[in-house]
Amino acid sequence: MTTSQHDNPYSIHCANLQWGDDGAPRAADYGDIYFSQESGIDESRHVFLNHNNLAERWCALDRESTGRFTIIETGFGTGLNFLLAWQLWQQTAPKNWQLHYISVEKHPLKAEDLRRAQTSWPELASLAAILQYNYPPLLLGQHRRLLNSAQVCLDLLFGDALNCFPALLDAPNSVVAAEPNADATQTPCANAWFLDGFSPATNPDMWHDTLFACIGALSREGTTFATFTSAGFVKRGLRAQGFSVAKVSGFGRKRDMLRGTVTHSVASDAPRPAPVAVPWHRPAAQLPTKHIAIIGAGLAGCSTAMALAQRGYKVTVIERDTPASGASGNPQGILYTKLSADPGDLNQFTLASFLFSLAHYREQLDQKWVTGELCGVLQLAKTQKEISQFLKLKGILEDQDWLQFLSGDELHRCSGIALDGQGFFYPQAGWLSPPSVCAALLDHPNIKLVNHTSALRLEHNDLNWQILDEQQQCVVRADTVVIANSNDATHFAQTAYLLLKSIRGQLSYLAEASLSQSPQCVICHEGYLAPPINGQLCVGASFDLINKGNELRSADHDWNLEQLSALAPNLVRPGISPIGGRAALRCASPDYMPIVGAVPQIANFAENYKALGKDARSKIPIAAANYPNLYINVAHGSRGLTSTPLCAELLASYIGNEIRPLPRQLCQALSPARFIIRKLIRKQAL
Ligand code: SAM
Repeated sequence: MTTSQHDNPYSIHCANLQWGDDGAPRAADYGDIYFSQESGIDESRHVFLNHNNLAERWCALDRESTGRFTIIETGFGTGLNFLLAWQLWQQTAPKNWQLHYISVEKHPLKAEDLRRAQTSWPELASLAAILQYNYPPLLLGQHRRLLNSAQVCLDLLFGDALNCFPALLDAPNSVVAAEPNADATQTPCANAWFLDGFSPATNPDMWHDTLFACIGALSREGTTFATFTSAGFVKRGLRAQGFSVAKVSGFGRKRDMLRGTVTHSVASDAPRPAPVAVPWHRPAAQLPTKHIAIIGAGLAGCSTAMALAQRGYKVTVIERDTPASGASGNPQGILYTKLSADPGDLNQFTLASFLFSLAHYREQLDQKWVTGELCGVLQLAKTQKEISQFLKLKGILEDQDWLQFLSGDELHRCSGIALDGQGFFYPQAGWLSPPSVCAALLDHPNIKLVNHTSALRLEHNDLNWQILDEQQQCVVRADTVVIANSNDATHFAQTAYLLLKSIRGQLSYLAEASLSQSPQCVICHEGYLAPPINGQLCVGASFDLINKGNELRSADHDWNLEQLSALAPNLVRPGISPIGGRAALRCASPDYMPIVGAVPQIANFAENYKALGKDARSKIPIAAANYPNLYINVAHGSRGLTSTPLCAELLASYIGNEIRPLPRQLCQALSPARFIIRKLIRKQAL
């Protein structure tokens, strides 16, 4: 039925296309078209743009303020609706607003098919080229892309709509009869819906009660929808979810279509998503925010500052020293991931953040905002476990342009070093200078940097947060605070409960001539070796849980050289020694996942979630009890360059009450409340 692929945690069945003589693709499995070659553009404009009143609504947006307009689509297909919406957005919306376009797709087109389909619309060619450049790999899951310097935030959910939409809502994929939703205003929502999932007769799954329930739960008064179908059950399903539905003239020869707006409340017998089992990762109701203070100007703080500034918030970054003075100050940071044939939360998060960071930094490098090189990253498989993962993954992740499985001579050809064995090669990854990344991230008119200022205490006075220094002087007042100061986060009373590990890492710098062969890409093994810059090689990094200083230690240099020597025989010339180095403390959590989200109030958690101690599967559909407007983003370990861009988007989505860039399970795995919840379940003292 579809292209043959194995079922595995990564796989998605891509679209099975037939190309007509007119150049238009047809979906062979559904016997339906994506767009008509003769009038595709006009039809999409008529049905989706005009009947959601987008031009009028976007012209009327407040040009003095900033904001976000969210469209959710069922069925991304060839991207025609998306490109048309983006084109209209450029023509009508204020420059400082962001279009958030979320689209679900069970059978994504292969990149070459997408390109071929999009040649049909010359007037959309420039936007289509940007989309093609940023089109995600065909892997199951949510793929976020920020296009045109974040003018558009595109979330492509590759998977079945019946699984993906409930995950946006924190809901299991089942529906129940309507019941009051205590925190409905805290659920992010769409401004407009494009319901475009092939005809109800051939594809009933896209017009299912579960989907109508999710559409209802993700809509508010004023949310609109438009769809090409006029099927009676679609009309009734959406009416029950609070939409006033009208049958209007379809395009061309099509008689009717439906459009509507939420005007009334949900019918008492309408299906609604089942309440979330335990939504403890979600921030509870927050106070309004205009000004946000971020403590710490490393990669976590700077990327959070940029994500918030792009959304129009005024941001003050407070830094004890100067930006990138801690672990983010290394000269070469590496973009890498670790794959598993049976991925847990850590692997899933590492891959999601890696794929997001590749697209994110590629734009930064293309624009010459940052220093670095996407020269490829080779991750060697050395241990028995790594080799067995390599072999398994090779069987299930073939034909991906972001990943190659290399062995034998291929390793040498690709890396420039006579390596043997096996390795995963990520051709689009590479290294960047983290200080240049921090500087670029802070370069926004909405961001103010306050250097050489220590934030030591946080106090909330019902209106806003005060940040106090050593002299108990208030250095900044802000509506919202984000703690992003790595290991020092435990100095604040509110986050003192976190068990952060500081891990010393030392880099060794070598003259390029110290090696008999020069690396052409980044090579990751126990440590890493990056291509030389200005005749100097950077080798690292040691991993030391005991020592805490940042002085250079000869034992660490020795360890780095030993790892390097083990890479290939005669690689390190005899008698050489490092010409310098750098040591810094990284910050890791007990489970090595970053810590990102609203800061929990322990006593309230203990009270609200005490039932978990009796039954870990208790359903407690009450919102979490966090400090008002207090967030944290720390514990990126040695992966900060890769993990911070997506974590910054996640944090900004919490603060702005937006649809998140990650599924619920990973949000929970990242949440600062996870440690408390685990203790409650294990009946341990908090
Ligand atoms: N909006 C698209 C465009 O602009 O090209 C056309 C969408 S096409 C009419 C319908 C899409 O829905 C197809 O790409 C199909 O693969 C997708 N689809 C069908 N069933 C689905 C499901 N259960 N979940 C997610 N996507 C689905």
